[in-house]
Amino acid sequence: MVTSPVGKAPVSPSPRIAVLGRGLIATDEPVLRGDDLGVLRGDGLFESMHLREGRPWLRDEHLARMTTAAAAVDLDLPPTDVLVDLLDTVCAGWPVQVEAALRLVCTRGSEAGGPPTVYATVTEVPASSRAARRTGITVAILPLGVPADARTGLDWLPAGIKSTSYAVNSAARRWAHRAGVDDVLWVSSDGYALEGPIANVVWLTGDTLCTVPAATTGILPGTTVAWLLAHAPELGLSAAERMVTPAELHDADGVWFSSSVRGLVEVRTLDGVRRDHCPRTPALQALLGFPV
Ligand code: PLP
Repeated sequence: MVTSPVGKAPVSPSPRIAVLGRGLIATDEPVLRGDDLGVLRGDGLFESMHLREGRPWLRDEHLARMTTAAAAVDLDLPPTDVLVDLLDTVCAGWPVQVEAALRLVCTRGSEAGGPPTVYATVTEVPASSRAARRTGITVAILPLGVPADARTGLDWLPAGIKSTSYAVNSAARRWAHRAGVDDVLWVSSDGYALEGPIANVVWLTGDTLCTVPAATTGILPGTTVAWLLAHAPELGLSAAERMVTPAELHDADGVWFSSSVRGLVEVRTLDGVRRDHCPRTPALQALLGFPV
């Protein structure tokens, strides 16, 4: 939030939106055609980035992931420098002291045959996400109904892409809401923890910080967890990608969810079992640089 004159409530900056080919537009102006395949079929890609001090953190990693995904789904993504210009346009003038979520969306465009619809939005990080960094979250285990290697075993199915088809993810989040928990952790039919619907799982075993391998499971290769594991040695920790069962997570020295906007949040209750606070949490959050 932006500091307000004495005696007045802090003001939240208005959300912003910029559209490729149109520049910054009013947030109530139309962006998509009714026959855009992003709307009709969820046929598109997106990236969510953390805007800190006015700049998108890990921008190049996000653009690289989107480029890889676009190739996997034959989506005609504009060149990277064009996307960077669009991001610069939407971020210009955003108050540097307000952390924000920067979203880049590219859909396949009109059913009549493209071109892709590309736009970017900036909104303030929700208060609930900032609070979760301090309080931690409650997480329930939710069956995904397929074996851990089911998705990577299908050569027609692009795995590990950040598609706008989030119906399954949204259903899982609604289930969490009904169940009275903050989030869920998907578990494969052969008993392995995979990821959350909007986050990767990270855990500490001794001095090793771990996450689930994306290449063999088809989960989203998270930018946040990749950065965290690459920098783990700065905290005297080693890093590893491993398969893990919920039982092993209950025994872990720390369990967290990581994602670009909410950052690193500690799992304080896993499937109804309260976990001790991990003393490493503040140092890991400080390393990642999300305000707590
Ligand atoms: N897994 C899923 C399914 C996600 O939707 C997300 C983020 O939205 C993540 C993992 C975390 O990825 P990142 O750290 O790149 O935000």
